[in-house]
Amino acid sequence: MNAEIIAVGSELLLGQIANTNAQFLSKQLAEVGVNVYYHTVVGDNPERLKQSIKLAEARADLLIFTGGLGPTKDDLTKETIASVLGRKLVMDEEALHSIEEYFHKVNRIMTENNKKQALVLEGCDVLPNRFGMAPGMFLTSKEHHYMLLPGPPKEMQPMFIHFGRPAIMKELKIQEIIESRVLRFFGIGESQLETEITDLIDAQTNPTIAPLAADYEVTLRLTAKHQTLGEATLLLDEVEQQIMGRVGEYFYGYGETSLAREVMSLLQEKGLTLAAAESLTGGMFSQSLTKISGASKVVKGGIVCYTNDVKEHVLKVAPSTLEKEGAVSKQCSKELAENSKQLLNADIGISFTGVAGPDSLEGKPVGTVYIGISLPTNETKTFVVKLAGSREAIRERSVRYGLYYLIRELL
Ligand code: ATP
Ligand code: MG
Repeated sequence: MNAEIIAVGSELLLGQIANTNAQFLSKQLAEVGVNVYYHTVVGDNPERLKQSIKLAEARADLLIFTGGLGPTKDDLTKETIASVLGRKLVMDEEALHSIEEYFHKVNRIMTENNKKQALVLEGCDVLPNRFGMAPGMFLTSKEHHYMLLPGPPKEMQPMFIHFGRPAIMKELKIQEIIESRVLRFFGIGESQLETEITDLIDAQTNPTIAPLAADYEVTLRLTAKHQTLGEATLLLDEVEQQIMGRVGEYFYGYGETSLAREVMSLLQEKGLTLAAAESLTGGMFSQSLTKISGASKVVKGGIVCYTNDVKEHVLKVAPSTLEKEGAVSKQCSKELAENSKQLLNADIGISFTGVAGPDSLEGKPVGTVYIGISLPTNETKTFVVKLAGSREAIRERSVRYGLYYLIRELL
């Protein structure tokens, strides 16, 4: 199949806008193996448009029109095609209904000329317009296919991707493979993540990028379409690489996983064991891992050291640390991590000490949490996070930060 793209609009000929629709469609058609031999641009003039149609019919199988589907007098594309093909324009009830709904929604009176937008070529498949009023059309006559798309790129592009392209694929009897990949991020808000990759989201066509926030985490679902799995995978790899270049430090796993699952599999992979000393989390961290089957291979155990007494006498935190720095301190989290590791004979020790609220503690504000991680190399890292929310939310999020930092260290 070969195609010709006919962009209709005098503003294109006047140089007021660039023909980006042709560029977009050419790229899309190349992806599905349709050859584009000609781009035509023609003004809002029915005679010259007629000539362009005749010319294109002589050299292409598929004619794709953009522009001129709107309600105004200069919008003549479908009327001209109807007259060339000798077809009637008929009212599409569904399109009319959605135009009426649109006017109702924006609280405006629908004028008679807007009804014109719901007129479609008799016998065509209607391509719904999710972002505007004028529907698109796909029509097969004896020797040619005709596709009519609206001019505004914000309407045309999604219409083509969701309805136009599948219609062409069906005609070509090509099955498209839809391949998805979910990337999971932690420690970055949805809006910050979107800001970091806003240009990628704006430019998305194939693959598409859909952000989703849930449960203190953000995920991105990438979806690619192609005839072969290999090509779809390549498309996914490419955007994934771009995304990772921006926000890779917050990435922790693919698909149906969780922070705890990732920690488990990394520990298993590396043959490492873990001990925990938990003050404000009161065992929640250990629970997050032990509820996953197979935990006994990697979790040695944990100590809930809620009081200073237990911190000092069981976990051997130096009395001077508790006196001078306090229980909610970098030094205390360091000693808790190191000593739990030693006491439980594990490769890694992790500790949580902080202020879950509602009252502040040792002059430290609610939400201050120190996390210590003593590594197999005997190096100990400490992290401080400032969390907002209820007591439960602070405890829950502390656990997640602990898991996240462990993943960063294990990677
Ligand atoms: P509307 O309902 O907005 O009138 P339409 O389908 O009638 O849509 P046109 O009136 O031809 O389309 O164009 C509307 C706008 O769409 C143009 O002002 C321009 O911004 C954009 N547009 C039209 N054609 C192209 C094109 N080939 N490339 C890029 N943008 C285009
Ligand atoms: Mg118009």
